[in-house]
Amino acid sequence: MSLLLICVTFFMCLLGVGVGMLVREYGKLSNLDKFYFSFPGELLMRMLKLIILPLIISSMITGVAALDASVSGKIGLRAVIYYFCTTVLAVILGIVLVVTIKPGVPQSANEIDRVGSTPEVSTVDALLDLIRNMFPENLVQACFQQYKTKREKVEATTVMDKNISTFTEEPVTTAATAEASENKTQEYRIVGMYSDGINVLGLIVFCLVFGMVIGKMGEKGQVLVDFFNALNEATMRIVQIIMWYMPIGIVFLIAGKIIEVEDWEMFRKLGLYMATVLSGLAIHSTIILPLIYLIIVRKNPFRFAMGMAQALLTALMISSSSATLPVTFRCAEQKNLIDKRITRFVLPVGATINMDGTALYEAVAAVFIAQLNDLELDIGQIVTISVTATAASIGAAGVPQAGLVTMVIVLSAVGLPAEDVTLIIAVDWLLDRFRTMVNVLGDAFGTGIVEKLSKKELEQMDVTTEVNIVNPF
Ligand code: ASP
Repeated sequence: MSLLLICVTFFMCLLGVGVGMLVREYGKLSNLDKFYFSFPGELLMRMLKLIILPLIISSMITGVAALDASVSGKIGLRAVIYYFCTTVLAVILGIVLVVTIKPGVPQSANEIDRVGSTPEVSTVDALLDLIRNMFPENLVQACFQQYKTKREKVEATTVMDKNISTFTEEPVTTAATAEASENKTQEYRIVGMYSDGINVLGLIVFCLVFGMVIGKMGEKGQVLVDFFNALNEATMRIVQIIMWYMPIGIVFLIAGKIIEVEDWEMFRKLGLYMATVLSGLAIHSTIILPLIYLIIVRKNPFRFAMGMAQALLTALMISSSSATLPVTFRCAEQKNLIDKRITRFVLPVGATINMDGTALYEAVAAVFIAQLNDLELDIGQIVTISVTATAASIGAAGVPQAGLVTMVIVLSAVGLPAEDVTLIIAVDWLLDRFRTMVNVLGDAFGTGIVEKLSKKELEQMDVTTEVNIVNPF
């Protein structure tokens, strides 16, 4: 996306706010008018949702298949372990911050009466659902439905008549629970059913395994690798087209939201939400990543980060870790003197799959949206958010606001309204810049760490052996 498009998108954000304020003040729209007014924004959401499936499938399969062919095993494995650990740390940090700060919980609602939101499933059920969803029994069904168990009270008189035809499984268990108030036992049964929403976890697990297998099949698997590469490229081109429509959609999405806003506390919440994301990014980039670098490499991490300054600044300006890649290469190789055999694997693959900033942001945003919806997340849902935020950051392309697109994946995985990404769009352009900076910094530290851990192999490696990777330029 060109700089022009970013400027236009930013301008449209402000325009959306302006139009929304004006219409809200003077428009006197009926509910039906408000519904029609939001139509261009609704179109944008439909497009974003439309692209989720091909995006997950093609980016996961090609990402994993590429790993195998890219570089000799040990170095690749170390890089992947580094990517994974730092991304998971970023997600955990984000979740801890957002659960502690609670930016989406209204002040008065801290003591809210939660009687109505009693969970229908226990934590164990939720965790079992998580695992069940990782192994869908039908891949096509996984594209639009996910498995959910539910606890139902068994009414002695109606249990025989109960119509369970909508459930895909017969009740699997009955549990007895004491009802203290009536001092008699209440029977529950746990029923399994499918509900609308993409089974993202199931698709990710399948794509990971599928990508690994075809990556190892050599010539036989090449046709599939080529196919998914082409699909991935086509999908990314469609994403780019959607990005061009985004400014128009954004005006109406934001204006529509502002018209709808019942209480202006939303803006207080958004400010707190931004502060949560930014403080998470700051802690991750100035404490966690440097500490890991210091422990493993035993050199000054801030000096290393200073060497990357030009790349970090570029990332801040253009919000794209992929477009920053040439500068990242130059800084790592020329300023920090990292071995080229390391940078050529760690940086391009990292720009595609290692996005600590994006993962942290997705986790915070998903919990924030749940808080706005007054939804109390159970442990299973928190784990789902953590896993899908990690996966969604791996699947996100290194382009501006790709995280906002894959954000829908995280929301769908826990049954949150995908439309609610509109609540955070207004501030996303700013957060995107900072998270891209952290993404680039994470890749950069990765080169230093993997180089240090691979010293032996590098010395043993024949200096004339070129690392077999596709040059991204
Ligand atoms: N803009 C980010 C990047 O290029 C991706 C995102 O989080 O939107 O790294």
